[in-house]
Amino acid sequence: TAENMTLECLIEKNLQRYPDKTAVLYQDQACSFRQLNDLSRRLADFFLEQGMEKGSRIAVLGENSMELVLAFLAAGRIGAVSVMVNPKLTDPELLDLLEYSSLSGICFLNEKKPFPRSYRQKHPKTAVWNKKQLREALTADGSCSAFESALKPRPEDILCMLFTSGTTGRPKGVLLEHGAVIQVAYETVRMMEWTSEDTFCLGLPLFHVFGLSAGLLSAAAAGASVCLLQNGHSLQLMETVERCRCTVLSGVPTMFLAMLRNPDFGQYDLSSLKSGVLAGSGITPACYLEICRKLPFRNLSRSYGMTETSPSITFSPAADPAEKKAVSVGKAIPGVHISIRGCEGSTELPAGQEGEICIRGFNVMRGYFRMERETQAAYDQEGWFHTGDLGYLDTEGYLYVSGRLKDIIIRSGEKLSPGEIENVLLEYPPIQDAKVVGVANPVTQEEAAACLVAEPGTELKLEELEDYLSKRLAAYKIPRYYLLFQKLPVNASGKTDGKQLKALLNDQYHKGLLRQ
Ligand code: ATP
Ligand code: MG
Repeated sequence: TAENMTLECLIEKNLQRYPDKTAVLYQDQACSFRQLNDLSRRLADFFLEQGMEKGSRIAVLGENSMELVLAFLAAGRIGAVSVMVNPKLTDPELLDLLEYSSLSGICFLNEKKPFPRSYRQKHPKTAVWNKKQLREALTADGSCSAFESALKPRPEDILCMLFTSGTTGRPKGVLLEHGAVIQVAYETVRMMEWTSEDTFCLGLPLFHVFGLSAGLLSAAAAGASVCLLQNGHSLQLMETVERCRCTVLSGVPTMFLAMLRNPDFGQYDLSSLKSGVLAGSGITPACYLEICRKLPFRNLSRSYGMTETSPSITFSPAADPAEKKAVSVGKAIPGVHISIRGCEGSTELPAGQEGEICIRGFNVMRGYFRMERETQAAYDQEGWFHTGDLGYLDTEGYLYVSGRLKDIIIRSGEKLSPGEIENVLLEYPPIQDAKVVGVANPVTQEEAAACLVAEPGTELKLEELEDYLSKRLAAYKIPRYYLLFQKLPVNASGKTDGKQLKALLNDQYHKGLLRQ
């Protein structure tokens, strides 16, 4: 029921059901559900003694680790807000983000570099704890009396502040409620039919909503074990799946494709894999089928979601082969409604017609942190949350995502969808990867530029490519520029970094380096 939708209830439920079962395994550290409860309680008590309280924002910064999991749980148990921070940020980016987040405490679990001194000088009142200090707090004895007498969070309280991937602009801090995040985790378990018999292989970063929800919290909602990896490198993933006989592996398309293309792919026994969630960016039917053919999944569900929606909006059902040309991301989860709306006037469009995907439901964020204008702009008068993504519903309610509103290229007044062009490029055998971005042009306003990666061992011939494209795309949709890459850049969530490519190409254009 709704009253049970807090992190505290999730932890207590597992303590009752599976006290001695392994909850999280990280390197040589294993934690049962009982230990997870005891240790996070101890850390929660430490946070309270250090002056943290309900509503305090506590940054949690680091690659995946046991301490990171415990810090997140401890903060959530006292109603503090975990602000999950990407450890790979540069110092200026980090300072900017910490400043914006207005923090009471910081768990700095990054062992690769020191915490920026200038922050301490400017914010002497913000407590900063490193890994060693947290470990000491975890092993201290004590009655946890502060924790026992503290107010416990309610479902409508904020659990965490997570940053969007920054694919289209500066990452935004999203405030998510306990009830929304925990209920999505339960819905995910139900859709995926996960049970306490499952073992998750989790290499997705926990500072991103996908890893936190489809990984850590869904496993907890199922009472399943998680093999946690520091990061999602292909070799570690495959080695862990084989060694721990993992049944669940979720990720973004680039993660699965990197695995399949790793030269050692065939060396590992991955036959234990049963299911997983594939989300975060679009995938062509050919790539989806390739993953399903080469990995033993019974259900690799395509899911659509975003940080702002805690994150899941849809799942595709099991045994739903992508024989259709376009790949559907499935239907909305219970309690969530999708409406496709026209960009002018925000009216609902009929099935089959493309427009902006809009959402209503329990999973939508409270708002962007201290971004009143952006928060207001995200909802229309009828209360629909506008995702900024384009797509359509079919007559049975299946959703198809076609791209992002912001990525639309307007060339001499005609609208080009990068996603549509990319799909055609990706179906051309000599091309392994493709991203289309807009380049500013003084005459036509914007031109499409294709960033391409050739299939190893093949040569891409421009004339042949243009000949192929001209049979598949209207002339105005054919990219004006082509740039060959060894590999396309990806952001911390593993998505192709369109923002970086766009900046690079616009820069090259102004330097006169782009060639047709
Ligand atoms: P930012 O909002 O900072 O630009 P971002 O939108 O990439 O970054 P996330 O919240 O991590 O940040 O990603 C959500 C977005 O990812 C969605 O809005 C959508 O564009 C894309 N996405 C997620 N799942 C899918 C999917 N299955 N198919 C296509 N696109 C998807
Ligand atoms: Mg976004």
